[in-house]
Amino acid sequence: MCPMLRELILDFLYPKFCLSCGKEKSYLCSNCFSKIKIFPAPFCPYCGKRLPEGKICKNCQKSLFGLITASPYSDELLRKLIDAFKYNFVKELSTSLAFLILKFLKQNPEIEFFKNPLNFLILPIPLHPRRLRWRGFNQAVEIGKILSPLLKIPMEENILLRKKHTKPQVKIKNREEKEENVKGIFLVKNSSEIKNKKIILLDDVATSLSTMEEAARVLKERGTKEVWGLTVAKG
Ligand SMILES: [Zn+2]
Ligand SMILES: [Zn+2]
Repeated sequence: MCPMLRELILDFLYPKFCLSCGKEKSYLCSNCFSKIKIFPAPFCPYCGKRLPEGKICKNCQKSLFGLITASPYSDELLRKLIDAFKYNFVKELSTSLAFLILKFLKQNPEIEFFKNPLNFLILPIPLHPRRLRWRGFNQAVEIGKILSPLLKIPMEENILLRKKHTKPQVKIKNREEKEENVKGIFLVKNSSEIKNKKIILLDDVATSLSTMEEAARVLKERGTKEVWGLTVAKG
């Protein structure tokens, strides 16, 4: 069947409604999209200091070099969107989430990989295979598929892999326990492809950053030059 006809039939059988206002045609109408809060500028995720280029300040830097995050996770509509995306499997919401990141980048053109994408590579934070089977897709990969051509930065799904199944980080309260929970969970394949590259780790939400720091640590051990984090939301 031709894709357009298929789309028409699906729309007829399962009409889409905006998750926020109920307007027909899409899961998020443009009016509600514009209401989602955006951070005014990049900031150090550890001390809150504003840094226009998105680097993490020298005092707080561990393995991650920079962190770019578009919106506060406390935004109610954004949370609803991310939940629908991840737990009700509304895969096409990846477009709205990628566009939020893009909107933030356009408002902050000093961010290094936005200004000059050369030598950067996007690696989505991988899911454990068991979780991937359950959800049917990796939310970071879906966002990356939209974002990668827009930023002109390639994405590689098979370099950073997850070897251990862990408790979800949101279920752990204590920072040290979180760090312990993610220790040794990543595996790097084909490390020749990341040598001297600048990596962007992509995920939907960052909470404690322990997962991103652990991935950055492993990548730096294998010869990566710089590791950045990029997320839609920051908890
Ligand atoms: Zn709406
Ligand atoms: Zn800081």
